[in-house]
Amino acid sequence: MKGSESTALTTAPARTAGLAQLDALVEVVGQYSTARNYADGQTTSRLSPYLRRRLVLEEEVLGFARTVGTVERIEKFVQEVVWRTYWKGWLEARPGVWHAYLARLRSLDDTLPQADRNRLACAIAGTTDLPYFNAWCGELTSTGYLHNHERMWFASVWVFTLKLPWELGARFFLDHLLDGDPASNTLSWRWVAGLQTPGKHYLARADNIARYTSGRWLPQPGELDESARPLPDDGLARIAAVRPALGPDADEVRPRGVILHDEDCGPLPDGWARVSAVRYAVTKRPHHSPSELVARWVVGACADADTRVHTVTPAHRPDEVSEWCQANGAVEVWAYRPLTGFVATALAELAGELAQTGVTLRYADRAHDLVFFPLATKGFFPFWEAARVALKALHQSP
Ligand SMILES: Cc1cc2nc3c(=O)[nH]c(=O)nc-3n(C[C@H](O)[C@H](O)[C@H](O)COP(=O)(O)OP(=O)(O)OC[C@H]3O[C@@H](n4cnc5c(N)ncnc54)[C@H](O)[C@@H]3O)c2cc1C
Repeated sequence: MKGSESTALTTAPARTAGLAQLDALVEVVGQYSTARNYADGQTTSRLSPYLRRRLVLEEEVLGFARTVGTVERIEKFVQEVVWRTYWKGWLEARPGVWHAYLARLRSLDDTLPQADRNRLACAIAGTTDLPYFNAWCGELTSTGYLHNHERMWFASVWVFTLKLPWELGARFFLDHLLDGDPASNTLSWRWVAGLQTPGKHYLARADNIARYTSGRWLPQPGELDESARPLPDDGLARIAAVRPALGPDADEVRPRGVILHDEDCGPLPDGWARVSAVRYAVTKRPHHSPSELVARWVVGACADADTRVHTVTPAHRPDEVSEWCQANGAVEVWAYRPLTGFVATALAELAGELAQTGVTLRYADRAHDLVFFPLATKGFFPFWEAARVALKALHQSP
């Protein structure tokens, strides 16, 4: 079965669907270290849309992996699962990198030269002279998913062959991927461009594409720029890290009122599920327009999460949340911390408005984040060394 078909068949925005998908991954996880780079057939888990909205938790995936095989056999898979955690923790400590990306989009929208606009239009319509690039574009927009290797090739071709600004490609991905995530997406695009590890970029090569698509695509000699230089260092990879703001473990909090948001649609501790909740729908996503597919997926994930709470009231504006607090006599409400991105910005604004009416919005964290975010201080490999020790202590893997 080819990638797009299997994604369309299996992806439903519900925790039960994610857990069922996880359960069926014995073979994929067992063969992951040798098969994962092949972008034909299901060589990877396709769990990312679930992990992204926390419908399935990292610790559940790590716990499952442990049951599949020896440490050596599952290590590569475990490492990839915690890459997500690493990117999240890295951006939490440097939220300015996200805000710089948004600021750059604003300026590109105003100043992009006409010739670049024309190339951009062809790239996102999938009408370039590069059939493989056009095919990835079609797969992304029709399924909301691309294999990791295809994402790397796509981003590299975008930046180094089509010579388009990386930020516009990152936006295209974020608007179309079901797993679109401010940290994994922004930082992966920066990594491909040679900005995240300054001076080291990822160049898509014709022979690599041919090999890992099992000959399905054979770029012609000279079609790809295989000798481009990395983009000039913008200094952002080296900005000083701030200590990520971490709250108490949600399991230890006994809230009287809860705010639900689309960044975390995961299982809730009993104490959270039993109280009344308000579902705050954040639609403000500056410089972005999520595709219909993504918008529907997020609505579905939120509806699924709502089934896990006692009562839930919808709210679209801060004053509606405020009214709900007054009606429920809540002077303190809790939410899972929204990690750097649109929801975090909207909830910071909401917290300001609630404060004016004497209500405090507090954040609690997932246990997984509390353990691993403080380890994301430098590059991935120092993180991984520390993470393996923590994973061992938690009996989750290597
Ligand atoms: C340019 C570019 C943009 C990307 N944008 C996103 C994004 O917006 N959201 C997103 O979740 N991932 C992103 N990735 C990372 C990666 O491509 C996807 O997480 C992965 O392809 C999802 O497929 P899967 O669930 O089958 O992964 P598997 O290979 O089965 O891995 C299991 C899980 O580990 C995590 N993971 C795997 N590889 C990576 C990685 N390289 N970086 C971070 N986490 C990883 C994911 O949560 C994934 O579900 C991007 C990569 C690139 C090169």
